[in-house]
Formats: sequence, C-alpha cells, structure tokens
Amino acid sequence: MDEKRVAVVTGGATGIGAACVRELAAKGFRVGIHYRSSGDAAARLLTEIGEGFLLPADLAAIDQVDALMERLKGETDRLDALVNNAGVSIDADMQRMRIEQFETQRSVLRGAWYLTKRVLRLFMLRENRGRIINISSVVGHTGNAGQIPYAMEKAAMDALTKSLARELRGRGILVNSVAPGFIATEMTARLPGEVQAGILAGIPLGRMGRPEEVAEVVGFLATAGSYITGTVIHVNGGLYGG
Ligand code: NAP
Repeated sequence: MDEKRVAVVTGGATGIGAACVRELAAKGFRVGIHYRSSGDAAARLLTEIGEGFLLPADLAAIDQVDALMERLKGETDRLDALVNNAGVSIDADMQRMRIEQFETQRSVLRGAWYLTKRVLRLFMLRENRGRIINISSVVGHTGNAGQIPYAMEKAAMDALTKSLARELRGRGILVNSVAPGFIATEMTARLPGEVQAGILAGIPLGRMGRPEEVAEVVGFLATAGSYITGTVIHVNGGLYGG
C-alpha cells in the first residue's frame, strides 16, 4: 500500500475546494483534485501543491463518475479521505425555477452519493478506515428564499451524512458534514449587492468567511476528531447555531 495518505476533493480547483486541497496537502496528504470545467485552475493548483493528481468529471453524469473511479484506481491503492465539496447553486424563486434547473441541482447531489458509494466499496470498507466529509450549507438548516432546490440539496447532504454514519456502525469510517455560512467565493460574488449587504447585516462576526476558515475544519475532520461522526459542524460566523 502507498505510504502517504491520500485524499480526494471534488470541485477542488476553485473556492472552498481549492482551500481544502491546500490544507490537506499541507497536512501531508497526496491530493486528487477533481474538477469539471476549471481544468486550468486545477492544473495550476497541482503545480502549486507539488504532489497529487487530477480527476476530471461532470458528477451529474454517472458514466463520468465511473470514469473518475477508473482513473482513481490507477492513481492509488488507498483513499483516506473524500471531501464531497462540488456543488452548484441555481438561484430563482419557486415560480421561476424550471424543472431542468431543479434536475441539474439534484444530479450533483446524486453524483456525490454515487461517488461515495463507489469509494466506500473500493477503498474504505476494505480497510475499515476512512473519513467522508460533506460540504453542505447553512441554508439547508435555515432555508433561503430564491434557493429552494439548493436548500433541499444541502439538507439532503446532511441527511446523507447522518444516515451513512449510522449505516457504517462499527466500520471505523467517520462521516461528517461541514456547513459553511456565507464564504467569499465565486458563488457568493454572483449574488446582487443588496443581497450581500442583507446577509452581512445578519452575521454576528460582521463579515463573510474565508475559504481557508472552512478548510481548516475539513482538515481537522480528515486527521483528528476520532470520536466525531454523523454530525454537522457549522462554520458561519454565528449566523446560525445548529
Ligand atoms: P465554487 O467556487 O463555485 O465551487 C463549486 C465547485 O463545484 C466548482 O469547483 C465546480 O467545478 C464544482 N461543480 C459544480 N457543478 C459540478 C458538476 N456537475 N460536476 C462536478 N463538479 C461540479 O463555489 P464554492 O463557494 O467554493 O462552493 C463549494 C461548496 O461549498 C459547494 O458545495 C457550495 O454549495 C458550498 N457552500 C458554499 C458557500 C459559500 O458561501 N461560498 C456557502 C455554503 C456552502 P468546476 O469549476 O471545475 O466546474
């Protein structure tokens, strides 16, 4: 078996995912950087961290997740941590949201579920060891106007965490969610100015979070926290207490 611990971060080329890649590399993991459209950023990040590998796939397409698994098998014989970070937020109110947009939202969650299923079978259940970290969101708990499918997806992500932790009883595999509040990334930069101002007004710490502040919790769950499973850790500047 490879000496070095190995992690995979989905959506690892940008925002919170890229911060997780850097954090896990700094903690000594060899990191697989998954990406869909941000190939150049993924390649630059790989050069920056020095050691690792790239995993292209649209997680909404099951055959592409299968292809990712084939690549992963070729890269490593162990997987110590999977960070399900990839996500998409489609913003529209109930009446304007189209079925196809709802399906896009849902298919990314399905991709995370399917990738987790395959990673468990191929690596973690064989070794009775591993960490699965799902990036959900505060809106899965509070709800958010104009983001119903997104909030549904994120609530489902936390339900996946809690249910899988129970299903893996006695297997030595820990499953947790990290639920960010509003973090300064491309995703939040797309929000209109007045929406951003309204959000800031509700955050006790008075600012958006940084991707690194989410990544350090992911790093903790990947390497420590040996008695923590089936839970959601909120990283939101006090916006919501859980
Ligand atoms: P981001 O930079 O837009 O990252 C989203 C990532 O998801 C991208 O790297 C993208 O990959 C990947 N992705 C999207 N659709 C995909 C698909 N169909 N298949 C594969 N990959 C796909 O935004 P971010 O803020 O860092 O978001 C990261 C995670 O944190 C998301 O799950 C998001 O919901 C969650 N989150 C963010 C915030 C926030 O305030 N920023 C708050 C709560 C939760 P490519 O770029 O390669 O296409």
